[in-house]
Amino acid sequence: MGKIIRYKHHGRMVYVDEDLKGKHREYCLCFRCAKFHPEDGVKNCSIANLNYAMDVLLNVVTPVWECPRFEEKPPLKVKRGHP
Ligand code: SF4
Repeated sequence: MGKIIRYKHHGRMVYVDEDLKGKHREYCLCFRCAKFHPEDGVKNCSIANLNYAMDVLLNVVTPVWECPRFEEKPPLKVKRGHP
């Protein structure tokens, strides 16, 4: 674990472990989940929407470590024959 630092995030001073600052996307299951559509609140997973609403309300960052509804994204298809 790293040193605890303070910085301004979305207009509020917050505390964070310096080694984890800005890394929630690397660890959050949602970013690897087929149900995650952060650009569309209607299509997005209801758990992810609630999690995000809580983050905005309380100025916290809460990556999802475990989830019963996770569904792995299909692998990206690569087109061949064109640069
Ligand atoms: S199902 Fe779980 S992992 Fe997938 S987007 Fe929703 S909260 Fe995230």
